[in-house]
Amino acid sequence: MRIARIGSAGQEKPAVVAGNEYILVDSLIDDWSRASLEAGAMATVASADLSALPRVAKGSTRIGSPINRPTKVICVGLNYLGHIKETNADTPAEPVIFMKAPDSVVGPNDDVVIPPNSLATDYEVELAIVIGKRALYLNSPADSKAHILGYTISQDVSERHWQIERSGQWVKGKSFPTFNPIGPEIVTGDEINPSNLRLWCSVNDVMKQDSNTDDLLFGIDHIVWYISQFMELFPGDVINTGTPFGVGLGFKPPVYLAAGDKIKTGIEGIGEISNNCVAYRA
Ligand code: MG
Repeated sequence: MRIARIGSAGQEKPAVVAGNEYILVDSLIDDWSRASLEAGAMATVASADLSALPRVAKGSTRIGSPINRPTKVICVGLNYLGHIKETNADTPAEPVIFMKAPDSVVGPNDDVVIPPNSLATDYEVELAIVIGKRALYLNSPADSKAHILGYTISQDVSERHWQIERSGQWVKGKSFPTFNPIGPEIVTGDEINPSNLRLWCSVNDVMKQDSNTDDLLFGIDHIVWYISQFMELFPGDVINTGTPFGVGLGFKPPVYLAAGDKIKTGIEGIGEISNNCVAYRA
């Protein structure tokens, strides 16, 4: 199944994707959210007859984040060897984990606002895992798949000055409003092999990142198992699995985003999202 949320910001309705159409399922479930998933929304929709429900053509409406207000956004840093090299970091012995304010999540094609006085706003294509079932202290990576709802595209926008140059945790450079476009839809785990997907990111139609998830240092199952050793994962939680080689930071000199730039972020089998960079306005 592929699930999405469509409509104006704050007014999105839950939907299922069928070819070039969305089938609205708001008569069956409240939303795609932690609460609805905990109440069994996936099973409700999967077992329902959708044939008489209203349909909306793709491209005719705004798309929201496929999960309404995920309670956590957890990120894996330094998880592709080429990216580790371009950042002059050491190869981590265990996954590098950090968090991003969940409020930074926006719709897949919404504007990315460059923060006031930003020096180094950068792009990062990432495969995102979306949790489907509570996970805590999993026994082994083999247990992870049963806790995963599916996969989507995440653009982990990052302000390098605040992330790296200023002391403290990376969270400062990762949590600005609009810094995490997600979508356009979640593809459930039974429909996709997350471990072999091309992923890419272009800026103004110039390809910057073009890699494959088979290059992940720590794979999907390892990541979910590992994070569950430190915190409880809930339905709708989002895990950004890391970005490959080609970020703006890695160019000599670095090339960062500015208002007017257009970012396109894609993953094979899921789709492509597009974000215009705009200046902050009070
Ligand atoms: Mg990242």
